[in-house]
Amino acid sequence: MVLSKIIIVGGGPSGLVLALLLANAGISVQILEGSDKLDDSPRASFYPWPALYELQRVGLLEEIRRRGYVASDGISWRKVDGTLLAKFNIDAVPQDYRLHALPLGRLCALLKEHIDESPNVEIKFLHKVIRIDQSEDSARVLVETPDGEQVFEADYIVGCDGANSQIRRCLFGDSEFPGRTWDVQIVATNVYYDIASHGWGQGAFIVDPTHWSMAAQIQPDGLLRISYGEKVGLSREEYIARQPAKFRTILPGHPSPEQYKIVSLSPYKIHQRCAKSFRVGRFLLAADAAHLCNPFGGLGLTGGLVDVGNLFDCLQGIHKGLTDDSILDRYSEVRREKYFSIIDPVSSDNLRRLIQDPEIAMKEDPFFTMAKDFDDPEFCARLATGVNDIMHDFTKEYVKPQ
Ligand SMILES: Cc1cc2nc3c(=O)[nH]c(=O)nc-3n(C[C@H](O)[C@H](O)[C@H](O)COP(=O)(O)OP(=O)(O)OC[C@H]3O[C@@H](n4cnc5c(N)ncnc54)[C@H](O)[C@@H]3O)c2cc1C
Repeated sequence: MVLSKIIIVGGGPSGLVLALLLANAGISVQILEGSDKLDDSPRASFYPWPALYELQRVGLLEEIRRRGYVASDGISWRKVDGTLLAKFNIDAVPQDYRLHALPLGRLCALLKEHIDESPNVEIKFLHKVIRIDQSEDSARVLVETPDGEQVFEADYIVGCDGANSQIRRCLFGDSEFPGRTWDVQIVATNVYYDIASHGWGQGAFIVDPTHWSMAAQIQPDGLLRISYGEKVGLSREEYIARQPAKFRTILPGHPSPEQYKIVSLSPYKIHQRCAKSFRVGRFLLAADAAHLCNPFGGLGLTGGLVDVGNLFDCLQGIHKGLTDDSILDRYSEVRREKYFSIIDPVSSDNLRRLIQDPEIAMKEDPFFTMAKDFDDPEFCARLATGVNDIMHDFTKEYVKPQ
């Protein structure tokens, strides 16, 4: 079945990467984006290899290295007074498998530059999907546009429309997104402050029941992502008012506001959730529309980019007549299995590890018991490649059409 058109709902990073993969393979794509511009809030910044692999497939890895930042030092875990608990040695980790950093807004801007050059992708801003419909031959969405409501139709429609996905709500109902919400809140900030001169290198996690946090470099010019735990249920103004005291407590040097420069600040609720299925007929779900996890360890968008890379391989196989569309059911099965076996447990452990008494953690937490081996570069290199298990090769699963 030659695909004449794919619609992607949502022009976030996952939708943009999927669009480029499909367009580069000669498949026509229309992106429907509800907002008037791409999102620039302080969310994803760190990308391990499974995400970089997909960015490499759209030809952007070298540019990301140029614009962003490749870790040259291992992250540490510390007490809130700065005492070192453990430090990861990345000396033997090959460059590709080191965390790469680039703020999400800059990644999306780079993707958009390439979308704009592609004759196979059209991006329509201020096009908000409100309802869906499908038949045996095609899928349709009803869209609010500046010119009134319009129907758009395609062979398949992919919901890359984020955590509040309208496509997922239309498929399964408003409240059907199984999982849980953490009873802690995070505040994510992008900030200029020199932690390296205080001996923290490029980044550190603070292990503490109250002041758990992370500070790590995300740009060559020294910009840091600082994320910290906060009480749930306060207003944005209250989080802003409490921020100076938090920084004084959690940052080395206990700085006052004149000593750093905040570029952005956003509070976030955090969740672990996964949709019942990532396929219903001609509708597919990917990335945050399909699953959510807390951001510690950088598995959110990373899992999302692996979804869209896998989905691209499935759709391209259908387009070229190499497989029938049962592979899309496998897409749903495999990606959900990767969520439940790796993304959910690993990201949950990453967060729980921070919210505990550091003295007890050093004695009882298996991660910190293992940390005695973090001086061993070979051991750390093996550990750093563990995340690659979220990848899957669908080109080996093509089912020849009858
Ligand atoms: C503080 C924080 C830090 C993070 N750090 C990392 C990290 O370091 N590494 C990592 O891998 N992940 C990280 N994540 C997760 C990552 O940011 C998300 O997984 C990622 O942004 C999701 O991308 P997406 O394309 O699925 O959705 P989004 O980026 O949410 O994009 C969805 C798009 O769909 C549009 N849309 C929504 N509804 C409609 C509609 N009805 N019609 C049309 N368009 C619609 C929206 O306007 C939006 O543009 C972090 C998250 C947070 C909160």
